[in-house]
Amino acid sequence: MYRSIYPRYPRYSNTPNQEYLCKKIAALEETESAMILGSGMAAISTTLLSLLDSGDHILFQNDIYGGTRNLAEAQFDRYGIEYSFTDTLEVSDFEKKIRDNTKVIYIESPSNPILKIVDIRAIAKLAKSKGLISVIDNTFATPVIQKPSTMGIDIILHSATKYFGGHSDICAGAVATTEDLKETIWSLSKNLGGSLSDYTVWLLERSMKTLSIRVKAQQENAMKLSKYLYDHDLTKTVYYPGLPTHNNHDLAKRQMDGFGAMMSFEFDESIHVNTFLKALELIKPSMSLAGVESTMLVPAETSHYLLKEEDRIAQGITNNLIRFSVGIEDTEDVIEDIEQAIVKATNK
Ligand SMILES: *Cc1c(COP(=O)(O)O)cnc(C)c1O
Repeated sequence: MYRSIYPRYPRYSNTPNQEYLCKKIAALEETESAMILGSGMAAISTTLLSLLDSGDHILFQNDIYGGTRNLAEAQFDRYGIEYSFTDTLEVSDFEKKIRDNTKVIYIESPSNPILKIVDIRAIAKLAKSKGLISVIDNTFATPVIQKPSTMGIDIILHSATKYFGGHSDICAGAVATTEDLKETIWSLSKNLGGSLSDYTVWLLERSMKTLSIRVKAQQENAMKLSKYLYDHDLTKTVYYPGLPTHNNHDLAKRQMDGFGAMMSFEFDESIHVNTFLKALELIKPSMSLAGVESTMLVPAETSHYLLKEEDRIAQGITNNLIRFSVGIEDTEDVIEDIEQAIVKATNK
């Protein structure tokens, strides 16, 4: 084991504070082991590059976090790593797209920003039957409401910048997995050097003490606000797995303990979206999500800006789609804020 060979050193992620936090994350995700890194993307890139050699193929779910997609599109060709995306989230579609050289299946559920749900158990089973490594980005759910390891997934990734941190003030990432796979990822991480700074380790550890109560309060608010938006005369669509109208509501119920606190929605043409966002007073129009304060943004202009427009639209990420990260505020105050912003943003 590396601990016996390597002395304690921050870049090796083996200081007492780092080890303590890793143990906590592993306990939450019910895995043998965990690692922390400097950002969600550091966790994702280090993990994928540690698993994939030149000539290997990775199959991604079609709508994943924009930065992950951009990592593949901008970098993988240079390393000779093949990648492709499914067309749908059906397990049969994943199965069809597995190649002889496929090594990893990568999913994200609920996905960012349309909140699509993938059948985690079925994907884990498919990966096992083909001898592939299954990876999930569990950022949107958190282990408070979804534990992929108990459904057979090998590697669980997190942007700890989001719910783990919870206060929109740190940047961090995490990987939870088996001892063996952690060793593989760790070996590359010590070369790449994307470790988490000591100060952030401390802040993250403090934040995680309230992870469970924050997420539960946030998802309770999200349930109320999704219903409010769904019933609103001026909304066209609301994507939230907790609504019975969500196309995978039953699947979400089977694999999640609640439905999370992220949603996205579209107003009809009578609302000018950018005016609406500017008019908000309580909700913050900002890039960060999952904090205790509610935020909204237009993914087409921010998180998914780097995608090709045709890919974006094909995923349902229209130019007017608003992503809503629900915080812990009183829902009545949030509704009041939305209502006053609607009045200012109505095209007359
Ligand atoms: C934010 C995010 C990431 C990237 O995390 P960073 O901490 O910004 O590097 C990855 N996946 C999902 C689902 C995210 O929301």
